[in-house]
Amino acid sequence: MSAVEIICKNCGADTLLKREAVYDGFTKTGEKLTCSGCGFEYASESEVPFKAKKAEPVIFTAADRSAKVDVFDKGENRRLCRYCANYIVNPFTQFCSVRKKEVQATDTCSQFKLNSGETGKPVL
Ligand SMILES: [Zn+2]
Repeated sequence: MSAVEIICKNCGADTLLKREAVYDGFTKTGEKLTCSGCGFEYASESEVPFKAKKAEPVIFTAADRSAKVDVFDKGENRRLCRYCANYIVNPFTQFCSVRKKEVQATDTCSQFKLNSGETGKPVL
């Protein structure tokens, strides 16, 4: 039986729910849900003041995305293909003239050569 945390609405304690099977002879007729602190009995599962679980962290929010861009602003962008002299972009593709392959603006490359005229700052 796993411990279920509740905030008891009777005694107000941050405590555990006690779940006991109720038998009529040998037949399980239901469950008795009580506060392990004060013994208050809840009529049904929907009455139980379950302690709210911590919200799952939201991994990709708009704020996080802009935070990542900020990280790039602090130096990493110096090696991004989009700032490279060998980065060729046209409406159909982005291409590295050194590696002779299609690249993404956010790729990084060991043969990076800063495009003169680029400050390394992202163009907004
Ligand atoms: Zn209680």
